[in-house]
Amino acid sequence: MKLSEFYLPTLREVPGDALIASHRLMLRAGMMRKLANGLFAYLPLGLRSFRKLEQIIRQEMDATGSLEVKPTVVVPGELWKESGRWEAMGAALLRVKNRLGADFVVSPTAEEALTAIVREDLESYKQLPLSLYQINTKYRDEIRPRYGVMRGREFVMKDAYSFHADDASLDKTYADMERAYRRIFERCALTVIPVKADSGAMGGSGSEEFMVESSIGDNTLLLCPSCGYAANVEKAACRSDAPTPALSIPLLEKIDTPNVKTIKKLCDFLKIDAKRFIKTLFFRALNVEADLQAETGVQSGCTKETFFAVCIRGDLEVNEVKLAAVLKAGEVALAADSDVERLSGAPIGFAGPVGLSSVPIIADETATAMQGAVTGALERDMHYKNVCAGRDWTAQLVCDVRTVKAGDGCPSCGAALDEKKGNELGHIFKLGRKYTSAMQVSYLDEAGKSQTPTMGCYGIGLDRTLASVIEEHHDEAGIIWPIALAPFHVVIVPVKYDGAVKTAADTLASDLQKRNVEVLLDDRPERAGVKFNDADLIGIPYRVVVGDKNLAQTPPKFEIKRRGADQAELVECGAAAEYLAGKIRVTTQAP
Ligand code: ATP
Ligand code: MG
Repeated sequence: MKLSEFYLPTLREVPGDALIASHRLMLRAGMMRKLANGLFAYLPLGLRSFRKLEQIIRQEMDATGSLEVKPTVVVPGELWKESGRWEAMGAALLRVKNRLGADFVVSPTAEEALTAIVREDLESYKQLPLSLYQINTKYRDEIRPRYGVMRGREFVMKDAYSFHADDASLDKTYADMERAYRRIFERCALTVIPVKADSGAMGGSGSEEFMVESSIGDNTLLLCPSCGYAANVEKAACRSDAPTPALSIPLLEKIDTPNVKTIKKLCDFLKIDAKRFIKTLFFRALNVEADLQAETGVQSGCTKETFFAVCIRGDLEVNEVKLAAVLKAGEVALAADSDVERLSGAPIGFAGPVGLSSVPIIADETATAMQGAVTGALERDMHYKNVCAGRDWTAQLVCDVRTVKAGDGCPSCGAALDEKKGNELGHIFKLGRKYTSAMQVSYLDEAGKSQTPTMGCYGIGLDRTLASVIEEHHDEAGIIWPIALAPFHVVIVPVKYDGAVKTAADTLASDLQKRNVEVLLDDRPERAGVKFNDADLIGIPYRVVVGDKNLAQTPPKFEIKRRGADQAELVECGAAAEYLAGKIRVTTQAP
């Protein structure tokens, strides 16, 4: 490909709203342009890399036995109403009406569509397991699209869905997918961290996210430097702290704490550590599915809002995703101040579990492990001391809802956990029967009995993955593409495109093309410096400089430089095509 015939609008200036390297470089290198907030168009250079990523993912999906399909992007709203997500997805779901007034959605994901497709033809256990995937456009009306294609509104996802007769079969496909994901990211030269992820609220039984470390990451990861335990904070557990010694605690005592409304003030006032305090927070939950009826009086499948009090040690935070998973709730959020005052019967700042009967009490393990604690007394300006769980209050449910932090003990080996920020590139998920039950999918088992299949789903965001490759592989001058994703393998830069230089450059280009090496020939009448800068910016792995001086040597030579290397080398013209083809062949082969 001659550059003069290609469309490569590179930019010297750094676009002002581009805050991260990949966003800046994708715009500067002419890979893409912004159409609107969260909407990006890939230009020819960007699309070449995008297609290569697509191909890597396709090969690895095919290798798992998953079969590619191409559903529509616009799907009937009816399917989303059946699954319950027409309501649950909220404003992120782009709903449209056709000319007859019928509801449709622009797919943000495709559990509904694929489940509906499989439902049509599934009859017998003999058709299972079945794994289908697509590489297709998704739309999510993100509140705050940012960092270029890292969080766009329209993006491409590879999403696979598998259907199984039993858990063992699902476990096998899940494990195959996990291995395929590792290979995909390895072929993209990406350093990923697979972490345990939340799966509770969707009713699934296992879930892993593939993260890249990133200072702008939306996720907090807890990582054990000793045994390799890795989890999203939304799922992370930790070792329980040593229990308070079972001393004989004096009787419960109410104490006057005038105007002391915060834990900090209370700690100063009583000269105690926050670890001696039981914090009581009120939460509002929607769509609680947990069968907590016996314990809490909350009915299973309750779709209305329900309030809970959550007790936790004073120095810790409640993780709302962990809480939602415990309650199997669609949504969990802190209650409004007015609700807190109504439910606790006291001003804000004096809630506590002793005598609290207006709502079920959910206790984090750290709250019930405390003996002789201090808590609010459900009365203005009053607290209790010497509070003992079991003696002075009981919880309807004891569970783990704390936000694990750096320094907490690894749940597997006890070593201090590290905390890092991460960006999610992929997610694999054992869904269970959530969709197949809601959408009434069934098959006949060996005994002729009707059964509901269990399901897995497996997603990778292509745009975000490509941007993450640039985040990991760039320098001051531009992108440094791994060969597998480079838009071209070799850029030939004739110092001046005429005479013997032109002939040598053209010959090399054609020799490389014969060897299936993808070549960009910079035939523009620009200064060599400009061409070098563009070659560095767009990140082509090998640059061949063709100049009079090296051609005049005996034998004549080219200067070949690997992008990102310090030194160039001189290679005989006659051997150059084979030399480069060898380098590229080695690294483009699937591992
Ligand atoms: P996030 O938490 O980042 O919003 P998610 O958990 O909602 O992501 P999934 O539903 O698991 O995402 O989607 C699978 C993959 O799709 C993600 O791992 C990510 O790579 C990609 N993805 C999701 N939302 C976006 C987006 N707005 N822009 C680009 N890629 C996205
Ligand atoms: Mg996810």
